Amino acid sequence: MKKVESKKIEKLKSINWEEFYKTPLNNKLKYFEKNGRLFDMLFSQQLTPEIISNLFATANKIRKIAKAKEGLDWLQTLLSHKRAMLYFVQPSTRTFVSFQSACYILGLKVSEIRSTSTSSEIKGESAEDTIRTFSSYADIIIMRHFEEGMAEKAAWMLNKIKRPISIINGGSGKDQHPTQALLDLYTLDISFAERGGINNKTIVMVGDLLRGRTVRSLSYLLKNYKGVKLIYVSPEYLRIGNEIKVFLKKHKIPFKESADLEKSLKEADAVYMTRIQDEYDINGESKDIDYTKFHLNQKHLKLLKKDAIIMHPLPRRQELDVEIDNDPRAKYWRQERNGMWIRAALIAYLFGIEDKILNI
Ligand code: ASP
Repeated sequence: MKKVESKKIEKLKSINWEEFYKTPLNNKLKYFEKNGRLFDMLFSQQLTPEIISNLFATANKIRKIAKAKEGLDWLQTLLSHKRAMLYFVQPSTRTFVSFQSACYILGLKVSEIRSTSTSSEIKGESAEDTIRTFSSYADIIIMRHFEEGMAEKAAWMLNKIKRPISIINGGSGKDQHPTQALLDLYTLDISFAERGGINNKTIVMVGDLLRGRTVRSLSYLLKNYKGVKLIYVSPEYLRIGNEIKVFLKKHKIPFKESADLEKSLKEADAVYMTRIQDEYDINGESKDIDYTKFHLNQKHLKLLKKDAIIMHPLPRRQELDVEIDNDPRAKYWRQERNGMWIRAALIAYLFGIEDKILNI
């Protein structure tokens, strides 16, 4: 590493958390790398086209190899000497189980904590000390936390100790969910493989765009493609945040906002539905929002292009009619399963063994 770079990292190591947290992301991305490679996976903005295509290639290969018993047996030898800690103190079904399955595919041993009520946090221990404790036993921490910034704080803290271990952000409050964005992107890539890939596609994101972390992370990730257009469809109160708009303008990604679902659907190559994130209400304000205008029903299907795709990070409520599941354009169950493959690829990458998989 260049002298200037290592000086910058030393400086970042010396400042306190408040200062570190305030530092613009671009000035601290290197802090989450080691030997020029990603070490912690915290934000979509860390992912470059090179890393993304490496991860897609690895995921494709893992998926193929894992089909046969001998293949899966071989994959399970690759990280059988490593341990993962799944620290998920905010509800999760898919992200938890898919990470757990991804670990099993690569042979990692997995421990889990799923609530602060069963860890020593109930005795008053801080999340920081809890996470530091995991680093004594595990080689990687995969975490979901209700507090924005906690995954970053964990990485900030653990990169300073003698035995640093990687952190993967599996959802940090309203902020980001970069591995969801990765699996969304992987699903888009697979779905558009015969139509020139993700470039030049129009993606319509619908619902609670203000508090939905998956929409935020996916928006950041789309900067890696050319000619992509975004249409954000939401109730007035749940419009996409300003920081995303600033980012899109900076990267010259055209976007528009709308409250008209039907009109926007006609333009879509992909529709990305989301549920209302009422767990983040301060005063029960979701109750006053008419979300029914942002529900996708069977009657909408005729408005969609024949080769458009329908996605949803799940879980769903009424915003995505179950009847749509039978439509060939519905990709969300596939999307969910893709999460396991891309997460296995990410873990392989963070442990630096992806070449073993790619070269077999
Ligand atoms: N499962 C996604 C998340 O954790 C989406 C959602 O919960 O609505 O953010």
